[in-house]
Amino acid sequence: MTINIGVIGTGAIGADHARRITETLTGGAIVAVNDVNLSQAKAVVDKLNIEATVYDSGHDLINDDNVHAVLVTSWGPTHEEFVVAAVNAGKYVFCEKPLATSAQGCRNIIEAEMAAGKRLVQVGFMRPYDSGYRQLKSAIDTGLIGEPLMIHCAHRNPSVPEAYITPMAIHDTLIHELDVLRWLLDDDYVSAQVVFPRKTKYAHSKVADPQIVLLETKKGVRIDVEVFVNCKYGYDIQCSVVGEEGIANLPEPQSLLIRKDAKLSNAILMDWKDRFIAAYDVELQAFLDGISAGKLTGPSSWDGMAAAVASDACVKAQESQKIEPIEMPVRPAFYD
Ligand code: NAP
Repeated sequence: MTINIGVIGTGAIGADHARRITETLTGGAIVAVNDVNLSQAKAVVDKLNIEATVYDSGHDLINDDNVHAVLVTSWGPTHEEFVVAAVNAGKYVFCEKPLATSAQGCRNIIEAEMAAGKRLVQVGFMRPYDSGYRQLKSAIDTGLIGEPLMIHCAHRNPSVPEAYITPMAIHDTLIHELDVLRWLLDDDYVSAQVVFPRKTKYAHSKVADPQIVLLETKKGVRIDVEVFVNCKYGYDIQCSVVGEEGIANLPEPQSLLIRKDAKLSNAILMDWKDRFIAAYDVELQAFLDGISAGKLTGPSSWDGMAAAVASDACVKAQESQKIEPIEMPVRPAFYD
């Protein structure tokens, strides 16, 4: 059976997910779209050449009986409202990160989902679906590099817009590391610290850039993440896991190796959409397959909340300039 999907928020990633469901994946069809910018929603329908109702309200889209599942890809602060409404309507929801902009917002979603009696929410953390991160996880889980001791990461973007301010380095950017590193290590965080190195001249006045986030896990693994969002040269994600028996590095994206003009070079990606393009396909296909099977398996509301709890502590650490504790609540059996 085809799963009829409604998309709330047809900006960069909403339009891209609508395209992949229409053109690349199997088992789903976009039947409704909504955006505060109605002409943008209409443009997506025209571009994909699909029959879909254009709603001027996300809630009307959720309440459309023809919509079986909802993609929430609007602006982060609107996620909680739409996810709770979709869950209360008994519909499956794929929500882009962040699940909510605070841990309390995630708790409200968890309460609604537990009241519904089954998992209805998948969070758009796509890195666990990336083949490179899967190889890293396998190297850890099979004991290839021994027990992990330290992880060195970098999350670099060429540039960010004026609207990007200092805390966004955590809840918009670092949030991906906060999710994927928990998954890699099967561990939770206990503390966070944020250090501000010398600021790049390319950062505007409202963002401290770069930043270094230092995390400690329950098992004692130490993690450093460089977040550098005006690095100029490319969109570059690095992750190096140092274990007792060896070191495993996240593979570089495949690119042509050129020998020319006395240089040996590889291109570096500039756009985040290209870096995880395959992982976005796999995560959304997993969502569609999970609905068909009646069981979602991807990142859950609990994972969304765990990332938000850590994210809140990191933002506090940015402000306090101290080591802040991260107190993770006990996971209900519902999310085992
Ligand atoms: P975007 O291009 O700004 O798109 C968001 C869209 O939602 C805009 O068209 C916006 O309209 C619309 N919108 C805002 N409030 C709305 C509401 N109440 N009802 C309906 N539509 C509303 O942003 P984006 O880059 O696509 O990001 C969207 C979400 O995806 C964010 O939460 C972001 O963090 C996440 N994201 C995830 C990844 C990933 O790697 N997983 C990558 C990119 C983005 P206006 O522009 O008119 O406000």
